[in-house]
Amino acid sequence: MIDIAKNLEDVRNRIEKAQQKSPTKNPVTLIAVTKNHPPEFVKTALNLGIKDIGENRIQEAQEKFQHLNLDGIQKHLIGHLQTNKVNRAVELFDLIHSIDSEHLLRAVARSAEKIDKIQDILIQINLAHEESKSGIDLDSLDSLVEISQELPSIRLRGLMFIAPNFEDVENTRPLFREMFSQFRRLRDKMNLEILSMGMTHDFEIAIEEGATHVRIGTAIFGVRNYE
Ligand SMILES: *Cc1c(COP(=O)(O)O)cnc(C)c1O
Repeated sequence: MIDIAKNLEDVRNRIEKAQQKSPTKNPVTLIAVTKNHPPEFVKTALNLGIKDIGENRIQEAQEKFQHLNLDGIQKHLIGHLQTNKVNRAVELFDLIHSIDSEHLLRAVARSAEKIDKIQDILIQINLAHEESKSGIDLDSLDSLVEISQELPSIRLRGLMFIAPNFEDVENTRPLFREMFSQFRRLRDKMNLEILSMGMTHDFEIAIEEGATHVRIGTAIFGVRNYE
């Protein structure tokens, strides 16, 4: 049996330690990534004080959320979003981390407008130019930021990044550092609070380099079963 309580305590301790070495020393928000895990696991995490949960697929999240009381819980969409699922994503999620094109951004804006919502978003960056990952190139960041600011139903809250799965996890450090420097540059011009980066294998380095939000699944819930 997986001991979620013990795992969570361990993760929280590790986060706190890394925080001491971070540029701001500010508290870091832990997003418990519940994808591929049943509602009971989510309930356990909520009982242990988790206030933020992350899912990466719309269909799965919609089914799971029906079984849960999520009042006061922040729901994060962390996975790639297809345009045809934007309506449901806007209904279901407080924060969409994976905005990575003007087309998607405008679709989310239209969807939010229809239901009188102001949708919080992050722009996802693909720093390492990995083919397999979504996210925009750094070159396109400023223009996407500008467009987001012209859309009244969109509130840009920050940036999101998934680091490559390097064999030596230290190799992520310069990338996290670059993300923080982009975040700081934009933050000087507008009100941004969220830098979402760091997962089970690299969250301590992400925090040390300035992450405000980490997305952690495996270290809390164990290895996912992909069927
Ligand atoms: C699955 C996932 C995570 C969590 O990954 P773990 O390695 O299990 O901590 C974080 N971010 C994104 C975007 C994910 O898809």
